[in-house]
Amino acid sequence: MTCRCGESSRAPAKHSFRRTVAGTTFTATADVESCAGCGDVYVPSSLMLAFERAVAGELARRGPISDETFRWIRKAAGVERGELAQVLGVTPETIAGWESERRPIDHAAWRLVAGMVLDGVEGPRAVRTRLKVPHRPASTNAALGSEHALELPPGGMIARVLSLLAGPIDFTDADIADSLELDLAALRAQLRELAALGLIHASPVPQSGDAERWSPSTRDPAALLRAAAAAGVELDAPIARPPRKGDGVAHARPTSSTWRATSS
Ligand SMILES: [Zn+2]
Repeated sequence: MTCRCGESSRAPAKHSFRRTVAGTTFTATADVESCAGCGDVYVPSSLMLAFERAVAGELARRGPISDETFRWIRKAAGVERGELAQVLGVTPETIAGWESERRPIDHAAWRLVAGMVLDGVEGPRAVRTRLKVPHRPASTNAALGSEHALELPPGGMIARVLSLLAGPIDFTDADIADSLELDLAALRAQLRELAALGLIHASPVPQSGDAERWSPSTRDPAALLRAAAAAGVELDAPIARPPRKGDGVAHARPTSSTWRATSS
């Protein structure tokens, strides 16, 4: 992609996220790219979404239960006031009251919405295990402290591919190439290398069309990334992107090796 300044090469950069909710400032830092010409930093929308979800996840996990956190987690869960009101058998005005401190919040409603957020962040879990979350009303505000650093999912391309494979949804390689804007042939070459290390394996279930399905050795994304790092996989290594019309030679990136040289 060519920057509006005309430059098409990019340089590595850092981006800091910062957001204050209910008295706690959440921060995170991520590796991104910037324009080598004008220095404009590109923050992918997927990364912004990951940060918002990480904030909502912390609030849903630890509270405090308050008008502000309720509004935040409801929006993160993607539920409209009217929709939630119907499920709970209350009026949308009641929910508006919870979200503006006019009415005491219904704690069961707060936990329902928190559970929806955590389903997305942590994957589905039994409601029982979630009820162990300590009860923290806003008044006691023993919440997160004034500043709280969040860990974002690793930004490297191989790390993103592994995280997708370990996630709750079964993606094909064609899905992954699509969503991460990667060249399918280059992605497959990487997947075969990861398979050779025993980190993933081709699914025996045949896939219709050109797509192939790959299964991770573990469904725990953090464990899969640790195993990959232990096997010497360079999680930040790029994977070639498909050439685009109108792009010059400058865009054609070499597929660098996924592996760090290991001394034998
Ligand atoms: Zn530029």
